[in-house]
Amino acid sequence: MKLAYIGLGSNLDGPVNQLDAAVKALGGLPGSRVDAVSPYYASPPMGPQDQPDFVNGAARLLTGLAPLELLDALQHIEQQQGRVRRRRWGERSLDLDLLLYGDCRLDNPRLRVPHPGLAERAFVLRPLLDLAPDLEVPGFGDIATLLSRVDTSGLQPIASRRGTPCLASP
Ligand code: ATP
Ligand code: CA
Ligand code: CA
Repeated sequence: MKLAYIGLGSNLDGPVNQLDAAVKALGGLPGSRVDAVSPYYASPPMGPQDQPDFVNGAARLLTGLAPLELLDALQHIEQQQGRVRRRRWGERSLDLDLLLYGDCRLDNPRLRVPHPGLAERAFVLRPLLDLAPDLEVPGFGDIATLLSRVDTSGLQPIASRRGTPCLASP
């Protein structure tokens, strides 16, 4: 079994419910169990600015799935939750990114791990720090240092079922 960290994001069709549903779906994947879920954060959109704010979080999954099997499963969950491709970094009902997979570094045409945007994105780093304050990101360094280098002023913790600053199992 490997520990995988999954980035969760949504800005359409009830973002908090989308993230909750995604966490449930992750827990239903074969040979997998959700170990912890971060608080959720509202954050300004990264790409086009004429779209709603996002809700972001992260989940830690214990899984026997191989990396590409897991990516397939993440994309299947996105489809199940009605993801439609509109424009780059545009609005979506659900985005699931494979942020980390154990201590692996992968550079596959379909899959790069650690996720290449991770070090620049407060909405990824903050939930990761919530889940694992001592996390070492392979090739990038420790999570607290990474977080200290980005602007977190746009992040707002949100009150929700999972929006409390503690680890919640589903
Ligand atoms: P970004 O990847 O910058 O966060 P995005 O999430 O909007 O942007 P998508 O349209 O969801 O991008 O995904 C584009 C492609 O990225 C996917 O088809 C997938 O093959 C590829 N990809 C590469 N590495 C990863 C990863 N670690 N997690 C998820 N998808 C990845
Ligand atoms: Ca993404
Ligand atoms: Ca994605």
